[in-house]
Amino acid sequence: MSNKCEQKYPCPFEDCPRGYTNPRALKEHLRSTRGAGYDDEHPQGHGIWQELDEKEYLKVGAYLILLTVADCAENWRPHSRREG
Ligand SMILES: [Zn+2]
Repeated sequence: MSNKCEQKYPCPFEDCPRGYTNPRALKEHLRSTRGAGYDDEHPQGHGIWQELDEKEYLKVGAYLILLTVADCAENWRPHSRREG
């Protein structure tokens, strides 16, 4: 994989190259993917979906619970504490 860690909010699925600059866009990506019936990059039954559900990541108002932050910690530098 290339430079997902450069994205502030990379998709937690390792096969997915997408990354976003705000948590709303990332959540919308995940929600729409699941809503459309999953795909090869986000397979149904993948453990990440379960983790997301457990963390209530996909619910409105649940922000900033990022599975990948630990992996990206060295490169992850928040530009701002506010996300609007
Ligand atoms: Zn994705």
